[in-house]
Amino acid sequence: MKDDIKLADQYVGKGVDPFIETHRNIEEIKRRPVVLPKDIAMHRDGTVVVGVQPTDIDAKEFYRQLGCDVQMGQPKLKIASADGVMLHQPPRGEVQQKLIKQLQQIGMGIFSCENIDGAVLLLSLSQAAEVRTNQSQADRFAINLSRKTEQPLAVIVRDESPEEWMALETIKPSLIILSPSDNRLHYCRRFFEWLQIKEIHVPVILNFCYDCSQEDLVIQAAAEYGALLCDGLGDGIWLEAPYGLDFLRNLSFNMLQSARMRTFKTDFISCPSCGRTLFDLQDVTKRIRSRTAHLPGVKIAIMGCIVNGPGEMADADFGYVGSKPGMIDLYVGKTCVEKDIDFTDADNRLVELIKKHGRWAEPEGVSMTHL
Ligand code: SF4
Repeated sequence: MKDDIKLADQYVGKGVDPFIETHRNIEEIKRRPVVLPKDIAMHRDGTVVVGVQPTDIDAKEFYRQLGCDVQMGQPKLKIASADGVMLHQPPRGEVQQKLIKQLQQIGMGIFSCENIDGAVLLLSLSQAAEVRTNQSQADRFAINLSRKTEQPLAVIVRDESPEEWMALETIKPSLIILSPSDNRLHYCRRFFEWLQIKEIHVPVILNFCYDCSQEDLVIQAAAEYGALLCDGLGDGIWLEAPYGLDFLRNLSFNMLQSARMRTFKTDFISCPSCGRTLFDLQDVTKRIRSRTAHLPGVKIAIMGCIVNGPGEMADADFGYVGSKPGMIDLYVGKTCVEKDIDFTDADNRLVELIKKHGRWAEPEGVSMTHL
């Protein structure tokens, strides 16, 4: 600990305030314990929120961009539908209001900085401190301080100091949106450390904003969100960048799945391929993926040979392993259950095996291979 303090002291005056983490045990990664609010639609394995502009609501594909199925004009939640929508502006006109109402009715959370019926009110830390203590400020958002039940409140913590964070203890928000503009990892780690010291179990959605190419976004967002989520810090993603809702939603879901938080599609494991590989690994992986990519929670390993393949399948549920030229062995867990199947029949036999073990579901009509 003394050495840690010495190390931290080196950074004093260098633009980053030092602190020591005492609530993150790298030997045993656990999610920070939280109490999910009853009045906000959140997913226990990680919530995905997308920011919506009025022009997005006007778009023909609005519901599909949010990951919903649409039947007779009515949206329906699917496995990779957004859990919440952050309205950058209140809906304009009756049509937009109706669309947003429909989302609320199917269970999608609506967040807004304005007072909208049934929506989660989103305020800055200083605004929230005022409305919790001053009725004239609360009137602006139609909050009656004497009423026990009121509109759920989410508070944005942006770049405030630890002294300012103290206000959260009196505000008691239902949800915190953590949105630092700079030094994101450091700021967030420090904030989570503070929450744990104070024993505040309010869920936190990480809101990071990027302005870079799509390729850079994938790398930067995965590095920053991933570092926190893999350490059990954060309960959801609200990713902001100048790209389509569909892309941001898919990237958010992929980050949650990669952090082993929320599974929405099949997990594939394949060997890197080498001189022993007995079939075209890329081609076969693509083929199997196209038939099985819609099975959330199922892990499928595709391995080039039996020399090392079975030992390297990790914790896959099903294995597809080259046994001899033109022959495949199929595994359930670590057990070989079908030997030397003809290569041309192996894909069908794998699907049959998944069905036989009760892990199959029919695709929802929309291909998920793009996810
Ligand atoms: S599993 Fe077999 S084919 Fe694949 S990389 Fe390992 S040794 Fe090579």
